[in-house]
Amino acid sequence: MPVAFIGHGSPLNALASNRYTREWAGLGQCIPKPRAILSISAHWFINATALTAMTAPRTIHDFYGFPQELFDVEYPAAGSPELTCEVADLVHPTWVGSDIDSWGIDHGTWSVLTHMFPAADIPVVQLSLNAYKPPAYHVELGAKLAALRESGVLIIGSGNVVHNLRAMDPRRPGEGFAWARRFDDAAADILRDRPGDIAALSEHPDYEAAVPTPDHFLPLLYVAGLLAESGEHPDVLVDGVEYGSLSMTAHIAGAPRPPVRPCDEHSADLPMSTDLPDTNL
Ligand code: ZN
Repeated sequence: MPVAFIGHGSPLNALASNRYTREWAGLGQCIPKPRAILSISAHWFINATALTAMTAPRTIHDFYGFPQELFDVEYPAAGSPELTCEVADLVHPTWVGSDIDSWGIDHGTWSVLTHMFPAADIPVVQLSLNAYKPPAYHVELGAKLAALRESGVLIIGSGNVVHNLRAMDPRRPGEGFAWARRFDDAAADILRDRPGDIAALSEHPDYEAAVPTPDHFLPLLYVAGLLAESGEHPDVLVDGVEYGSLSMTAHIAGAPRPPVRPCDEHSADLPMSTDLPDTNL
């Protein structure tokens, strides 16, 4: 199975068709059907390492200030307590909790999967991001997941390489600040050439601006750990920075086709309001 990092951006992408979401949809169509999906979403950033373990995870609308239509989205994929047990065994002795009733499928996961697998017929398990752990923990935990790919599990890290909501400028659709593009490019280079060193990005001069909080960055560390383990060099599925400081760049390894396409469409169709809600993108 491939492994992917997806820059998910606004929850409104769940309802949109733009050059990012079309690549997500295309990816879902070009890979073998996974037996399950393990999603590492920026939006389950808690004080523990945990896996969703319910048979029917609820769709979580973890945002506010968006249209009702977005709150009406349901992604009724099943859970997979079997996969939860498998992952817990695989990463032992790292302790992983089983969540049976607090979380579910958040928009970091479903805003992407509604495009990638619209039928919602593949079981989904989420792995939380432990806020108390250092970068090396996340890279190493990612590497430990490698065997899942051999048994039909698609692993997706869903966040944003550059995610600075305070710096966002709604007058700049399809544009990135110079520092945001520099950091996005640096992340792509290190992910492709030496993913095991991904934590070195924290020394990058633009890190503080690009990663003001770690939640959207950490899913990339899991993907980097997996790539370091497999020795693969990922491709860029789609790239771009929106509104100055929101990178939508996605990386993919192990997909059966060269995913890079010319960026011939302007991203003005990204349906983000100029009246941007200030939280939880
Ligand atoms: Zn987000």
